[in-house]
Amino acid sequence: MTVETPGRLTAFPDSESGRLRLAVPNKGRLQQPTLELLHDAGLRFEDGTRALTASVEGFPLDILFVRTEDIVEFVADGVADLGITGTNLLIEAGADLAVLVELGYGHCRLEAAVPAASAAQRLEDLAGRRLATSHPRAAATSFRELDIEVDIVTISGAVEVAPRMGLADGIVDLVSSGSTLVMNGLRSVGQLFASQAIVVGRSDPAPATAGIAAELVTMIEAVIAGRGVKYLMMNAPQSALPAIEAILPGLESPSVLPLAHEGMVAVHAVVAAGDVHRILVPLREAGATGILVVPVEKLLP
Ligand code: AMP
Repeated sequence: MTVETPGRLTAFPDSESGRLRLAVPNKGRLQQPTLELLHDAGLRFEDGTRALTASVEGFPLDILFVRTEDIVEFVADGVADLGITGTNLLIEAGADLAVLVELGYGHCRLEAAVPAASAAQRLEDLAGRRLATSHPRAAATSFRELDIEVDIVTISGAVEVAPRMGLADGIVDLVSSGSTLVMNGLRSVGQLFASQAIVVGRSDPAPATAGIAAELVTMIEAVIAGRGVKYLMMNAPQSALPAIEAILPGLESPSVLPLAHEGMVAVHAVVAAGDVHRILVPLREAGATGILVVPVEKLLP
């Protein structure tokens, strides 16, 4: 597949400029969460609703806004150094790029589905069947790895109606909640792989920008790590400390600070965001008061 480089991109710097070039989605599901991630990482730039490119203020990074499905090609061809796209699109493009960060959004699964009344119950039952998809390479690669021979029919849209139209016995499509399948009278027979938004780069990065790329990756990783935790603060009698420490599933041991009132301490700890709901009541029962749960903007372990 070749990617047409729009004429207006001629002003975009080349690999010799010393500035890192990052390709990000210009629309679609991954656009908003990607812009949010970059802003949370502290990068300031125009958000790309009008321009095709933007220069980040005070950091040697230029952002290129392109279609999500073209991003892998832009990175593979060296038009950009890094890109943000979905795992499925990397597999679909079949390019040999490195996954540098898993971003924790854009979650979906490539699944095979059949009409609800079909006899097929498992992926193996699809052997010899015709499957319609707009993800032909990802589907074919996945079935090949499973050693199941299927006939892939590529169609570009409305894949869910293909079985009803007699075009195929089933489909292979991206699913997140599964409600589109159900609405179309289809039933999943299995997952081929899970996908999420990722940062991709070439396995042989340009030496001139490798340091900036590593810095950007660290900034992004710090945001992702911060999103996974909360900062917990509380007051407690010193005597309650052992019980409180036993409840806190912290990254490291909590900080304990003496308070003005004799025998009272403040306890601060970083805990996994998913644990918070489980530990608040036990903490209060153990004697903690004034419990505060605070978001963490960035976390560098
Ligand atoms: P777009 O077509 O630009 O909205 O972006 C589609 C990309 O979003 C896909 O290639 C996936 O990586 C990701 N994605 C996340 N959830 C879904 C979903 N339920 N259906 C399709 N794509 C999804």
